[in-house]
Amino acid sequence: MAETKDNIVMFPFMAQGHIIPFLALALELEKKIGYTITFVNIPQNIKKIQPLIPTSSAIRLLEIPFDPSAHGLPTSFETTESLPPLLMLRLFLTSPSLQPAFRKLISDLVHQHRQPPLCIISDMFFGWSVKVAHEFGAFHAIFNVGGGSGMSLFHSLWLNLPHKKAKSEEFPIPGFPEGHSIHVKQLPDHIYYVVAGDPWCSFLKQMFQDWLETDGMLFNTIEEMDHIGLEYFRKQIGCPVWPIGPILSSLGSKARAGEEAQSTLDHCMKWLDSKPEKSVLYVAFGSQLQPSPSQTIELAMALEASGRNFVWVIRPPKNSATNTGHRNGWLPRGFEQRIHGRGLLLEWAPQLEILSHKSTGAFLSHSGWNSVVEALTNGLPVLALPMMGDQHFIAKMLEEETGVCIGLACGSSEAKYKDIVEKIEVMMSGTCKGKDMKTKACKIRDLLGIAKKDEKNFKGASAIAMDDFLTAVFDKSTPSIAPPTKPQISQ
Ligand code: UDP
Repeated sequence: MAETKDNIVMFPFMAQGHIIPFLALALELEKKIGYTITFVNIPQNIKKIQPLIPTSSAIRLLEIPFDPSAHGLPTSFETTESLPPLLMLRLFLTSPSLQPAFRKLISDLVHQHRQPPLCIISDMFFGWSVKVAHEFGAFHAIFNVGGGSGMSLFHSLWLNLPHKKAKSEEFPIPGFPEGHSIHVKQLPDHIYYVVAGDPWCSFLKQMFQDWLETDGMLFNTIEEMDHIGLEYFRKQIGCPVWPIGPILSSLGSKARAGEEAQSTLDHCMKWLDSKPEKSVLYVAFGSQLQPSPSQTIELAMALEASGRNFVWVIRPPKNSATNTGHRNGWLPRGFEQRIHGRGLLLEWAPQLEILSHKSTGAFLSHSGWNSVVEALTNGLPVLALPMMGDQHFIAKMLEEETGVCIGLACGSSEAKYKDIVEKIEVMMSGTCKGKDMKTKACKIRDLLGIAKKDEKNFKGASAIAMDDFLTAVFDKSTPSIAPPTKPQISQ
C-alpha cells in the first residue's frame, strides 16, 4: 500500500543556513520520487516556511512545540539569525530537549499512517533523532549541510582536541591521510582555548556518538571536490556517505526579505546590469553572522580603498555599543556618500541571483558551506573571512586543497584593511594567482554541473548517489519494493 508508506520526514536545525538547503532537498526528493515529505520545525519557523513552498508542491509542514523562554532565549526567537553568539551556544544545547516532542510527533504519524515513516532525514545537530527513528523502525539519515572536508576537520579537531597534546605548533589531524596537518594559528579561539568537558564540548561529543548509529549521511557536495572529507566520514562513522550536491535553490532570497524580495531582486539586477562583466565583488557573511565592529570598519575602509564595485550585505553588528540602528553609527563617517554609485549596501540579498550574474567576479564570504557551493556553482573564487563553526576549516581546505580561495585572516585574528585591499586586488585583477583561482573555480563549476545531470543516457555522480541513497532506504523498509524512478509531480 504505497500511499501509507509514503512519508519522508525532514527536520532541519533552526537556522536559515540549514532550513534553506533542507527545503531545497525536500523539493528535489518530492520531484524525484513523488512521495509525501513532512517538513518539521518550530511553529515560529513553520509560518515563515509556508510561503516559500511552491504551489505545485505538496510538502506538508508540521510544528514541533518549542518554548524559547524556557531555555533563556528571547521569546521572539525564530532562527540563529537574531541571536548574538553567546545565545547561539545556548540554542545548540537545547537540541536534546526536543527529543520527547519529536518522538510524539513520529508516534502520531505512525498512528495516522499505520506504519513508520520511510525515512527520517535529520539535521546533524539532531543526532539523537537516530534513536527515535530506530525505535519506530525507520531508516535514518543525517543531511550534513556543511561540506565533507570542512566538517571532517571540525569533527576530528573537536573530538580529539589534538592541539592540547601537540608537541609542535604544526601537528597532524587525527583520522586524516598522512601529511595533513594544521597550525595552531589556524585554530579559531573557541577551539584553541576550550577546556575538555565544557558544555559545548560535551554536547558535540554526544552528538558525534549519536552519529555512529545513523544509517547514512548525505552531503551537499561532490566527490571530486571533497573526497578527503567524505572518505574521513566513511571510515570514522562507518556508514554509507552520499555526496548529492549541489543542492541549490533561490529560496534564500525570499527567506527573509518577505514581500520586499521582488523589489530588492529587481533593484540588484538593474544595478548589476549597469556594471562591466566580472567587475563586482559580492560581500556577505551568511544568514546569522556579521564581523565585529572593528572588523566592519577595516572592511569598509578596504572596500573604499580598493576602488572596485561591490555589493555588501551588511546588518547592524550584534551587541555593539555603536549600534544606533543606522549605518552611520557603525560605518566610517561619510562612507555611504563616498562609495555612492559603485557600492550597493543591502540588509538581505538575493544571493544566488547575485552570484550567477555576469557582473559578479568574486565572493568575499564567511565561507559558510551553502555560500561556498553557491559561489563555486557559478565558477567564482572566494576571499574568506571565517568566524565560527566549520568555516575556518572550509576556508583552509578551499585554499590549500582546492586552490580557489584566499584567506583574509588566520584563526580568530582580524584582517587589516591594507591586507584586504591587496588580496581583493589579487582576486579581482588579472594577476596570475587570481586567474589561476578563477580557472580552478570554473573547473569545479563544470564538475558540479555534470554531477547533477540525470538524463536518459547519462547520470552524473550526484544523481547516482541520490539513487543509491533511495535504494538503501527502500531496501531497509521493504526489500521487495524497488524505488520508483519516474517523477510523479511536475513542477
Ligand atoms: N542568504 C541569502 N541572502 C543573504 C544571506 C544569506 O540568500 O543576504 C542565503 C545564502 O544564499 C545561503 C544561506 O542563506 O543559502 C546561508 O548559508 P551559509 O551556509 O552560507 O551560511 P550560514 O548562514 O549558515 O552561516
